[in-house]
Amino acid sequence: MTTNTLRSIAQLRNAGFVPAAQTEALEQVAARYAVAITPTIAELIDRDDPNDPIARQFIPDPAELVSQPHERADPIGDDAFSPVEGIVHRYPDRVLLKLVHTCPVYCRFCFRREMVGPGGRRGLTGDKRDAAYQYIRQHSEIWEVILTGGDPLILPASRLRAAVRTLAAIHHVKIIRVHTRMPTMAPERITAELVAALRAAGKTTYVALHANHPRELSPAARAACARIVDAGIPMLSQTVLLRGVNDDVETLSALMRAFVECRIKPYYLHHADLAPGTGHLRVSIETGQDLMRQMRGRVSGLCQPAYVLDIPGGAGKVPIGPNYISAAGAGTEQGYEVRAINGRSHIYPPRK
Ligand code: SF4
Repeated sequence: MTTNTLRSIAQLRNAGFVPAAQTEALEQVAARYAVAITPTIAELIDRDDPNDPIARQFIPDPAELVSQPHERADPIGDDAFSPVEGIVHRYPDRVLLKLVHTCPVYCRFCFRREMVGPGGRRGLTGDKRDAAYQYIRQHSEIWEVILTGGDPLILPASRLRAAVRTLAAIHHVKIIRVHTRMPTMAPERITAELVAALRAAGKTTYVALHANHPRELSPAARAACARIVDAGIPMLSQTVLLRGVNDDVETLSALMRAFVECRIKPYYLHHADLAPGTGHLRVSIETGQDLMRQMRGRVSGLCQPAYVLDIPGGAGKVPIGPNYISAAGAGTEQGYEVRAINGRSHIYPPRK
């Protein structure tokens, strides 16, 4: 078993993850976008499967060198909504707070791939961090702070505790939400000390786990999630819809069920953002809607995430799932046409 995180093409080649013939192209990919594969993920990859869905998320691909004209370095417009460094204030009642720009792994589809990693932006420290907290203090409409980045759980427990306590001391901040891949990527890092650091008296912490394939919910990952939930911290999920990873109803259903079994409520299924060099990983919106329709018919309501799109440029997130209702005939006087999960049409009467 690999004991260290793999961070270079040479290390990936030595570990048998990339063929020698691709070395040159992959060196170009790695020079542009960060690479990291934790021992946990290296173990999960099936080396005998050339289409392994775990490998596809983390092993660099020469296709990443091909950017399409509509792709952008900052696909969801973080910078356009950043009043001070480290803060993104896109919606009235919540902000993103990006304390770090490093991650335990680097996902090949990452929408912040131009910002994260060793060659990316610097973490928020000193005066800049103070200015970010001050911004939150001065905006009483901010009800929720979302720690993201980078992966905030890469911080030592002491720094995380300090961040959570600083936010908890702000009266109008009621919710602290942490977005992370750490429980699945490096479950051993979810220690009792780290979990305790996430909690603050009188405030509510949520942890949103990013996972894209049911195999990521390994026994160790499930135990890490249980440590979080057992501490009284509710968990949510977010998944990116990815070609060759989870773009079939069996895989997506198994993933959503795995979340629910782990006491994690499926929250978002993201349509993949227009990050540079990620076209080979995206599917069409019609495919996403069709998958949502199929899931609605076959798995529990507990397992249904919202299928969402972040409008390029920063206009925000909107649900883009299938629509089941339309005005029947010429207008609402005749009621509504509602499609059942088996596709059959029914009429619902108009409002009187
Ligand atoms: S963990 Fe999140 S921020 Fe980090 S590379 Fe993956 S998608 Fe990007």
